[in-house]
Amino acid sequence: MLGATEGVVGLRRAALAMLAMAAVMAAAASSTAVPSTAVAQRSPATAPEPVSIVVIRAARLIDGRGGEPLAPAMVRVDGDRITAVASSLPIPAAAREIDLGNATLLPGFIDLHTHLTGRSDVHWEDALVKTTPAEEALWGAHWALITLKAGFTTVRDMGCNWPYTDVALRNAIDAGAVPGPRMLVAGAYVSSTGGAGDASQFSPYVQVPLVHNLADGPEEITKAVRTNFKNGADFIKILATGAVLSKGILPGAQQYSEEEMHAAVVEARRWGRDVAAHAHGTEGIKAAIRAGVHTIDHGSGLDDEAVAMLKARPGTYYVPTLALMSANLDEEGSSTIPPAEMERMRTIRAMAEAGFRRALAAGLPIGLGTDAPVIAHGQNAREFRTRVRLGEKPMASLISATRINAEIIHWQERIGTVEVGKLADLVAVPGNPLADITVTERVGFVMKGGFVYRDELATRK
Ligand SMILES: [Zn+2]
Repeated sequence: MLGATEGVVGLRRAALAMLAMAAVMAAAASSTAVPSTAVAQRSPATAPEPVSIVVIRAARLIDGRGGEPLAPAMVRVDGDRITAVASSLPIPAAAREIDLGNATLLPGFIDLHTHLTGRSDVHWEDALVKTTPAEEALWGAHWALITLKAGFTTVRDMGCNWPYTDVALRNAIDAGAVPGPRMLVAGAYVSSTGGAGDASQFSPYVQVPLVHNLADGPEEITKAVRTNFKNGADFIKILATGAVLSKGILPGAQQYSEEEMHAAVVEARRWGRDVAAHAHGTEGIKAAIRAGVHTIDHGSGLDDEAVAMLKARPGTYYVPTLALMSANLDEEGSSTIPPAEMERMRTIRAMAEAGFRRALAAGLPIGLGTDAPVIAHGQNAREFRTRVRLGEKPMASLISATRINAEIIHWQERIGTVEVGKLADLVAVPGNPLADITVTERVGFVMKGGFVYRDELATRK
């Protein structure tokens, strides 16, 4: 039976590879077509600008705090900060005015689960023998801009194939050398030997480049945590259970003991940092919660007991990644996911969607993540549509991607809502996302820290 479908799958994959290539080329063409000079000239690395004043006008503002939209809305930005928000504001003579017409202004979106340096056309287990760190970093810069232009002004990046290319990308973005979202990075994610993050899926006689991301037992894990922070990681990612996109052990299987995970948490806390746990299986999820991790990523097997444990521990958040499943299973999806791993995804899907509904019913605060590029970079906003289909209110999903995500990464003083004093990270979508959540997939205006990266809705004066 498998044999009979293989030919079809092979053909489908060849067609998909071509589609993916076309998409990459189209994306490349569209990113070069953008008047990037405006961005380049305003780049802090090349020319620090004097404080500029921008006044933005839109039909409505959803500020991320959960109240009724402000309509109409005006937001004043001085330099990189929001300095006034009201229905009507005076416009100083020196100000640039941006009129977004019937658009809705929102805080910049935050994605808590990306792999910006990852390519959907290279399976991560092949990356170590088929790619270079330089290649990964350059593609990372490419995807960073695509993600930013999709309205995601901040991402928590959950790891790369070549450790610390994410650190380099974050630093380059922060220095203004390349445009991209604000990034928090995992460095070298920490996996057990043979676990979900062990990319060396080769014969034991095949030498591959050494990637030191494997750690077994509390001592090795403590060392892995220290090494990560020494090398510039912002937080630690551990693989608590198996994964959908890996060989061998099933996604549900626990791969670190509670004691091992606790060792990671204890050491990270000494540095004042968090541990994020990739976890699908129910037992692995519960062990990770008991160990004190900060986020349960994916969280597919979330049952009633796990929900109750999360309720009792407000410092641990659930960050599901749901849109990738419909993107891959219902549509063309990725060209590089082998049939066996697609089958795993099919099995996980019903469980993951039930887990999300359970969390919703319990009123848990829920983070928003996508696992891009498992869903294509730039399509991150499809997570909204998926969650609304599963029963979340549009306003709740928007708050998840903004205020709640900002709280999860402890940046609530800087970003996540449109309020005076916050960084000017703003996006606008055509129409009203409370009436049609899919408008979040057509972001037409992006400002990050006062710099405009996308400006397709505005009529400038
Ligand atoms: Zn991931």
